[in-house]
Amino acid sequence: MTMAAPALDYSAPSKADRRLFDAVKSSVSTREAAERYGISINRRGMCKCPFHKDKNPSMKVDKRFHCFGCQADGDVISFTSRLFGFNRKAAAYKLASDFGIRTNDRESKVIPFRRPVSEEKLIEHRAAHYFRELCDYRNQLVQWREDYAPKSPEESFHPRFAEALMNLPAVENDLDILWSGDTKDKQMVIADLMQKEKEVKPMEAAVTVPVYYESGAYARDHKELELFRSSHMENINCKKAVEASISHHFDGMRLNKNAITEVLDQFGPERLSLVLAATVQTKSWDGRFSPQNKDWAFTVRMPDSRPDMNYDRRDAYAVSSHPAVLDGFISHARREMQDRQKHSVLEDLKKPPEQSHKPVSRHESFER
Ligand SMILES: [Zn+2]
Repeated sequence: MTMAAPALDYSAPSKADRRLFDAVKSSVSTREAAERYGISINRRGMCKCPFHKDKNPSMKVDKRFHCFGCQADGDVISFTSRLFGFNRKAAAYKLASDFGIRTNDRESKVIPFRRPVSEEKLIEHRAAHYFRELCDYRNQLVQWREDYAPKSPEESFHPRFAEALMNLPAVENDLDILWSGDTKDKQMVIADLMQKEKEVKPMEAAVTVPVYYESGAYARDHKELELFRSSHMENINCKKAVEASISHHFDGMRLNKNAITEVLDQFGPERLSLVLAATVQTKSWDGRFSPQNKDWAFTVRMPDSRPDMNYDRRDAYAVSSHPAVLDGFISHARREMQDRQKHSVLEDLKKPPEQSHKPVSRHESFER
């Protein structure tokens, strides 16, 4: 064979790795993987070989693959590993995540679950996303209905109290449908929610909440609890925007770059970095985040890097999208932020110096 071999993994596969390999091989055929990764296959199950300059389809893909041109041959894992230049283990993880194969290591069991391909599955996926989203919103409204209730009959309604009264019935109705409605109704609710999101975003873009780096105790002592809280809430909003954006812009295979632009425009690089870094920090055990993104995450300045005994504030805004997809999002976002920074540095050079409006921290010393 003249082709460069994929990177070798010198560590012997563990038992858990082997279980993963078996699960992947029994759940996904090479043909399914090839189709998923954008290779077109003709009716006879032949495709142009991605591993040599193939003019006519000379690769047979089925459960395994074999190329009659270059003799490349193997199973779905070796196919994926060569296609992406991953080692076998990384390829198996990619397949598992792309095809929704979960391994539960603690119980030493492999649980294959839904393959997000069909229209119906996509609706279910979105329904689940918006259900979580709406649950959060519902809880917030219930909270507001209590916290902002007028103290006397003369007092006028606080906007949040009014919003709660106005929106709660509809939100609860939508939740019912997303939870147990039929597909048609779910689809309507989802379309409606997606539309609303689009309408709301440009308005929110005007609101900028500064990132607050001090601790809650500091904020209390300095009467800045409002800043502390609104910054925390904005982190949560940013997390939700990332999740929504990934959900919209991931087609099961590729993440559209607009996913990043939208969130970045809305929340700015400082907050987006913070939220993405917090996510990786709190999930640094997860092998699906790349070492580069992990290294980066621990360089980002955090307001909540010192968790309390049993409560880590970062958990509230750690993004819960699929780690493999999210890792790609983070890499793109970092690149995009770098590009923008370069650009803005050039812009700044043209401007008088005092126009910088970055929030300045009160004490620069690093708390430990
Ligand atoms: Zn070939």
